[in-house]
Amino acid sequence: MPADHRPFVWEDVRSQNSGVSELARFRYRSSRTILLFCGLTNAFNLIVTLAGAWTVPLIVACMTAFGLASCLALYVLISKRPATTPLVSWLTIGVIMAQTLVTFVAVEEDQARIAWFFPVVGAAFLIAGQRCGLIVTGVFLAALLAVDLDPDTLSLANRLTIGIALLAAGGALSVLDRKFRDVLGTLEQSRAQLRLQASTDPLTGLWNRLALRERLDALENAGTPFALIVCDLDRFKRLNDRYGHLAGDRVLTAAAHCLQACAGEAGMAVRLGGEEFCLLLENMPSQEVIERVETLRRLVEDATILFEGSAIRVTASFGIAFSEGSGMNPDQILKAADDALYAAKSGGRNRLQVAA
Ligand code: GH3
Ligand code: MG
Ligand code: MG
Repeated sequence: MPADHRPFVWEDVRSQNSGVSELARFRYRSSRTILLFCGLTNAFNLIVTLAGAWTVPLIVACMTAFGLASCLALYVLISKRPATTPLVSWLTIGVIMAQTLVTFVAVEEDQARIAWFFPVVGAAFLIAGQRCGLIVTGVFLAALLAVDLDPDTLSLANRLTIGIALLAAGGALSVLDRKFRDVLGTLEQSRAQLRLQASTDPLTGLWNRLALRERLDALENAGTPFALIVCDLDRFKRLNDRYGHLAGDRVLTAAAHCLQACAGEAGMAVRLGGEEFCLLLENMPSQEVIERVETLRRLVEDATILFEGSAIRVTASFGIAFSEGSGMNPDQILKAADDALYAAKSGGRNRLQVAA
């Protein structure tokens, strides 16, 4: 059965059509947005403080400068190395949580700063997930209960109300995060299924033309040498007429198994349409390709397909073309293999022909 040729590449997180999970991409993008927002907010606060427009305790000013520097550094890191997203998202939350706590403790006269607890909890669930979100909720709850504050600015009743609201927010976001991950997981599964359906042939389970096209483009871009082998079953119409269409289908499936076995791990077996197949072998010396195709030809020739009491035999013809040193693009190589196939047909069938 076909296997996905594209490896899991973290750097692909920027691209829409990559093997990276939707969740990883979401976390990468939202981390960058939050870092940008926090960096700009800190820059604004620092400028206003330095300009003397408002006065804050020295520790708060220092935390603002620390926040700005951290956001900048983390933004550069995540942009250059998307694979660091999980680490960066935790560090981001650590930085903004520390800033929020310091200002909460240091600016006693403005306890409305507790309001910042809520977006920070939200950001933690958003970019770093459930565990981080619950930890941040717990830390804020502990700070709310433990920090010694003037009861005139924040009464015990106020603390309890805010604490319960924080718990409710954490709980709701936790449920939401779980649902979000479930939905994304299901979405990804269906997308993978659709992708597979769109690139495989339903009768034989081999790859189809679309998948071949994608692979050839990738090989051309990477400059990887390859061999294309076009294969066509001989006198298949006659076989269909004699044994029936269902028997024909059974023969196609058997031929597909032979091709798949020949392709192995490194190759790609494709049904181009009807009784025409293609084998793509990468990075293989030409002599080995020819030997492999000869083995395949014999495998098909020797196979006996049993169908409703009939023992059916079939042969196939092959056209081979190599990319290396040909100076041709994949379409031209496919055409050269096709021309070689027709030479094999006119040469008597059940044989292989290498393109000139
Ligand atoms: P040649 O040796 O020159 O290739 O002769 P051929 O009979 O194999 O080639 P031709 O193109 O004349 O006939 C191909 C036949 O393949 C005709 C068509 O009915 C049959 N065919 C195409 N697709 C399918 C399929 O999915 N199932 C079955 N059973 N037959 C198919
Ligand atoms: Mg044929
Ligand atoms: Mg044909």
